[in-house]
Amino acid sequence: MLFQTTAFQNDIYDWARNHRVHHKFMDTNADPHSSKRGFFFSHIGWLLVRKHPDVKTKGKTLDISDLEQDAIVMWQHKYYWRIMPFLTFIIPTLIPYLCWNESLRTSFFLTVVRYIASVNFMWLVNSAAHIWGMRPYDKTISPTENLPVTIVTLGEAFHNYHHAFPWDYKAAELGDYVLNLSTAFIDMFAKIGWAYDLKTATKEIITKRARRLGDGSRCARDDEVWGWDDEEMSTEDKSLVKIINRKWKC
Ligand SMILES: [Zn+2]
Ligand SMILES: [Zn+2]
Repeated sequence: MLFQTTAFQNDIYDWARNHRVHHKFMDTNADPHSSKRGFFFSHIGWLLVRKHPDVKTKGKTLDISDLEQDAIVMWQHKYYWRIMPFLTFIIPTLIPYLCWNESLRTSFFLTVVRYIASVNFMWLVNSAAHIWGMRPYDKTISPTENLPVTIVTLGEAFHNYHHAFPWDYKAAELGDYVLNLSTAFIDMFAKIGWAYDLKTATKEIITKRARRLGDGSRCARDDEVWGWDDEEMSTEDKSLVKIINRKWKC
């Protein structure tokens, strides 16, 4: 909760509610940052104008009772505007100033730069990762797998996967943590028992979905082994090859 406050992306209660509305009514007028309204709107414009009435009326149909029952979420919601300035701006400005004699002006400037950079990186998930990239799991929806945005958001732009399987805590089909430090962070807390009931999709479900609705990029990626499938390679030859640790095949 404290880390989330440092990000100043509004409190957990508002963030989670907006996010659920985005998933449920994606790319309609009820989506708070609908990508159908263009890059600028889905990036930052949605925060500069009044919400479309549909966001409010349809948003009311969502169940957010779990958030309301969470004491920590509601505490942050209540005191957000009192604790956020300290965690986002005042403490980060004072640390370099007091600890290694940075000037107050430079410390504050860096704090503001950090904030502008971090929110813009996150907004790219709503804008760029709803426009550019492959759609290996579902080509009928706007979200994409966007590598540059994934890098700057520590793993939050495997976005086609995330919209196809929104209940998967990893928000990605992963082999390792290299591009997804967010998952490593949750797993760390799972080890000490603070994160639990984590759900993740099996290879079988993912493959089924990718075959049924994907744009084919998932198949191309994993089957690309140079020399395999050459014309001169007969089926008989292939049958003599031992494949170890075989992955799914399209
Ligand atoms: Zn989401
Ligand atoms: Zn999205």
